[in-house]
Amino acid sequence: MNEAKQTKRSQEKVILVCVADLDLELMDRAANKLKLRREAESAVREQRATFDDLVTLEPALQWLMDDAVAYRKSHGKKNRCCANARWYGYGDWKGRGIKERLLELVGNASSRRIVKPPLRSSYAYDLAYDSIYRRLPNCRNCGCL
Ligand SMILES: [Zn+2]
Repeated sequence: MNEAKQTKRSQEKVILVCVADLDLELMDRAANKLKLRREAESAVREQRATFDDLVTLEPALQWLMDDAVAYRKSHGKKNRCCANARWYGYGDWKGRGIKERLLELVGNASSRRIVKPPLRSSYAYDLAYDSIYRRLPNCRNCGCL
């Protein structure tokens, strides 16, 4: 074998080893993700879950939490704010309530077929509901109470 061919062969070997390492790393990450998911599923089934467990199973729940936190930041110190308008979607938030989106992601009423059994429960719904709703600021001068 000439020198150029040998060099090419050893470069190919290096590339193959790198690809194999990358595959192992990806498999490790996937296995770890699966493990976290299984743990979160058990936590929900055994009714000892945290909001983070729910997010592990349905990442979109974090967006709802982020929206509640954003509302607190933008309206929490204003003279007038209404957590219920933001939650149920009326007034300035007509059609954009957080609760409506929550209903799609967790609970028995979810219309999405991809919601898996541990999330399709009133336990998961109540946990998500309470966790997110309590991050909203208290109503003030809104007249809804
Ligand atoms: Zn209000």
